[in-house]
Order: sequence, then structure tokens, then C-alpha cells
Amino acid sequence: MQAPGWLSGVRHHASPHFDARPEGTLIDLLVVHYISLPPGKFSGDAILQLFDGTLDTRAHPSFAALEGLRVSAHFVIRRRGQVIQCVAGDDRAWHAGVSNFQGRERCNDFSIGVELEGDEHHRFTESQYRSLFRLVPKLRTRYPLRWVTGHENIAPGRKLDPGPMFDWPRTLKALAPMGLSKPS
Ligand SMILES: [Zn+2]
Repeated sequence: MQAPGWLSGVRHHASPHFDARPEGTLIDLLVVHYISLPPGKFSGDAILQLFDGTLDTRAHPSFAALEGLRVSAHFVIRRRGQVIQCVAGDDRAWHAGVSNFQGRERCNDFSIGVELEGDEHHRFTESQYRSLFRLVPKLRTRYPLRWVTGHENIAPGRKLDPGPMFDWPRTLKALAPMGLSKPS
């Protein structure tokens, strides 16, 4: 059963790839990712299909490696800024995998995962930053988010997102008044 924590004002596209967080977990971390499917292509619904378990892995050669993968994120922000929620915030989405944030393992337990549609070669769009910066205060009304970090920071050597095209200085400046910071 789905937990509470669905935001209003955003599209919902439910993923079955979630489970309950450990009892009493403080949700204080925001994890930023990028994803594009096929890689470098910013159209179509493959990301949502990956998250809802309906992706036809024969549809593109690059999809073969995704066969059987059960992943999700709480939010996807598309290139034009559309925000799509796939997992309730109170539930644990499966976005971070093996990870460690300041000595705390299994970051999925205590984080909200946001996937920006993008890759390591293209700047993220103005609309995506605006949507991200609008999303955080909504989340803060329900979760005591204190930290923001990238997937590459909590799974170094294994993950590269959100990568060099993500504007951290801008993001940290925007999120600081909301009480979020990124450990160095
Ligand atoms: Zn990631």
C-alpha cells in the first residue's frame, strides 16, 4: 500500500518500485540524479516506463542492460520543467543503490530522490532548475530536509550523476535560504 506524501500540483505516475522506509526514519537528504533513455535522448516515455516496470528492453540496444532492473525515484523533472512524481515521499524509492552519506549507508532509507532528465553533455534547462527550486519548499513542509547531494557523491566510483553539467553553485545558492546545504 502506498504511504502518504503525494504532492498536489504535479503529475503522478506511480511506480511499483518502492517499499516502506525503516520505522521512524528522519528524511533529511535530497539526492540529485540525471537520467536519459536512450542516453542523450530527451523525448519519449522510456524513463517512466523504466520506473513503472513496462519498459520494452528490446526497443533500443542500450535498454538491454536494463532488463530486470527495478528502480525508481520520487520525482522526475523533464527538460521543459514538468515534474512527475513516481513514489510517495513517505515511501522508500529505489534510486540510490549502495550508497553512503557521511557515514550513513543505504541512502534510500532517508532521502528523497529527484531525477533530472539529462546527461553529462548537456546543460540542464532553466525550467528544470526553476522546477527543482519550487519543489524543495513543498517537500520541506513535510520532510526536514537539511542536506542536498549528488548520486556521484554518495556512490563515488560507481555513479557519475548529476555530473559536470549540473550547476551546484546556483543550486546551493537557491536552496540555502530553504535550509539545505551540501557537505564538502
Ligand atoms: Zn543516479
